[in-house]
Amino acid sequence: MPELIVGIDLGTTNSLVAVCDEGGPRVIPDDRGRPLLPSVVRYSAGGVTAGYAAREGTGEGATVSSVKRLMGRSPADVRADLAFLPYGIVEGPNQTARIKLSPSQTVSPQEVSAVILRSLRDRASAALGAEVRKAVITVPAYFDDAQRQATRDAARLAGLDAVRIVAEPTAAALAYGLGVGDESRRGRAETVAVFDLGGGTLDVSILRRTPPGAPGGTEFFQVLSTAGDTHLGGDDVDHALAALLLRESGGAAATGAAVAAAESAKCRLSEFDAAEVRLPIASGGEYRRTVTRGELEGLMEPWIARAMACCERAVRDAGPRLRRTAGGAGGVGGLDAVILVGGSTRIPLVRRRVQEYFGLVPYTAIHPDLAVALGAAVQAGVLSGAVKGALLLDVIPLSLGVGTVGGAVAKLILRNSTVPARATEMFSTSVDGQTSIKLSVYQGEREMAADCRRLGEFHLRGLPPMPAGIPQLEVEFLVDASGVLQVSAHERRSGRRASLQVVPNHGLTRDEVSRMEAESLAHAREDLTRHRVVDLVVNAKLDLKWIGERLERFRDKLDAAYAAELDGLVASLRGFVLRGDADWASVDSDAFHRAKEALDRASVRLQEVGITESLKQP
Ligand code: ADP
Ligand code: MG
Repeated sequence: MPELIVGIDLGTTNSLVAVCDEGGPRVIPDDRGRPLLPSVVRYSAGGVTAGYAAREGTGEGATVSSVKRLMGRSPADVRADLAFLPYGIVEGPNQTARIKLSPSQTVSPQEVSAVILRSLRDRASAALGAEVRKAVITVPAYFDDAQRQATRDAARLAGLDAVRIVAEPTAAALAYGLGVGDESRRGRAETVAVFDLGGGTLDVSILRRTPPGAPGGTEFFQVLSTAGDTHLGGDDVDHALAALLLRESGGAAATGAAVAAAESAKCRLSEFDAAEVRLPIASGGEYRRTVTRGELEGLMEPWIARAMACCERAVRDAGPRLRRTAGGAGGVGGLDAVILVGGSTRIPLVRRRVQEYFGLVPYTAIHPDLAVALGAAVQAGVLSGAVKGALLLDVIPLSLGVGTVGGAVAKLILRNSTVPARATEMFSTSVDGQTSIKLSVYQGEREMAADCRRLGEFHLRGLPPMPAGIPQLEVEFLVDASGVLQVSAHERRSGRRASLQVVPNHGLTRDEVSRMEAESLAHAREDLTRHRVVDLVVNAKLDLKWIGERLERFRDKLDAAYAAELDGLVASLRGFVLRGDADWASVDSDAFHRAKEALDRASVRLQEVGITESLKQP
């Protein structure tokens, strides 16, 4: 009997739970047959409620929605979100954001999410007749370590072990790839776009699916790129339509009622050409109006334009596998399918535009509200043994590396590498007799540490004193299948080891990720030069040190011309080091490199003399 693991889509607006058995994946509805659980939690004197009851609750108490935006974030990270959130944020320990429920009470985002997760867990336990203790939980592909960790912590608080954290687009594609929908697509590799438009966020991802090599084999999903907008979703359409209704009704209706009426009209307009809106107004009576689909589409134009720009970014970042069709005729070459996910993809205009842009009829066999949860359940089924053969691969959103002497970052794992990922690199010391080495771990695309984000640091202590450059420090980065980074260092000569699990205080906003990417492109050339000069300075100093020492020791064994040649080369290289140290931009890195090479070549004979002399010693 396979272990019981459920799949959970923990959404910004709505959450779901699904399970997979021999019959395939299925969503577990609530006792009234509703599949969705609004991601809303209400705290009042009567207790804590989640879902529809919480969303509809009024009166005394506090209602918390969109808590996903705060998971694993600091108040500074979410400053841009504050205007969208109907509650206050305060700073808790470790720079974490906490939600202010009342002047005297705050709660962490993890605790709020745990209420949602517990509600889903109770629902699943009741429906399945067994206590559910394990879950696969989905998160956006761009969620960093801190956000994934916060999601795990929320699960733990809800009595669930998050056995795997999976990217939402990957889950949607998994639901798709395993034939939850169309069976005929199986058996060949394909590249798929996932367009996920929910209540408050848009995520566009390009994935590559590799089918099993043999029946019952492993299926691979790889995220090639992700792009999106953390403030673009169905809510924006509701607000635009509500603003129109409020203007026309002379501002006499309540804003909350106008937004609710707008959302319901919007949903009806996905099916019908016109919808009637009725709003009670303060002076008594009612404001009535018919909204047509054409009008709503007019309001949505700027919003749609932003959504399509995200598609463009995702396609561009996916690399050479995809080609924009020349002449702007529409269509993306190399793409096999487009999957629609999220409640807002029910809007006909969204479907039309996505179809035009990608040049493919979007795939809608899987219900857009359910795809992510179904995919999570499939992954849960794979882990529990209920489903045979499927493996998920996600990508690392930003490059990971260690800081080097001089302030550069040596990248060990590059952006868009698939997880699980592993890389090792050898380092050494730059100062004689160092007995401890500090390693700082960075995330980002820029070459210099100061321009990247520091994720953490650790010390490798207890090294026996050795001359600079002699210790052999092997640093290993390991990113597990859930995207958590483990760094370890091993000094080979002494056998000393140290390691660090990187769980940063707070995460990166997607805007920061985009900014860091954009900056890295803008600064690429400058950065590379700087990195090169910094590395040259460090290495040249080491060369100058040992050559200088040997030159003094064996000067009387060298012929005068050779000694003079070395003196000249040493002086020239020392000049580069001094200038490079003071201002990297003031030196010609090519000339610096040539000076270092020239001294390296010339010093070979000095090295030989040194060896010969040391052999003569008793
Ligand atoms: P999230 O992933 O952010 O939790 P969902 O995928 O559940 O969100 O999408 C919720 C959004 O979908 C809301 O803005 C809701 O108004 C919108 N939505 C749901 N059904 C429809 C519909 N029939 N037509 C248009 N929008 C819809
Ligand atoms: Mg969603």
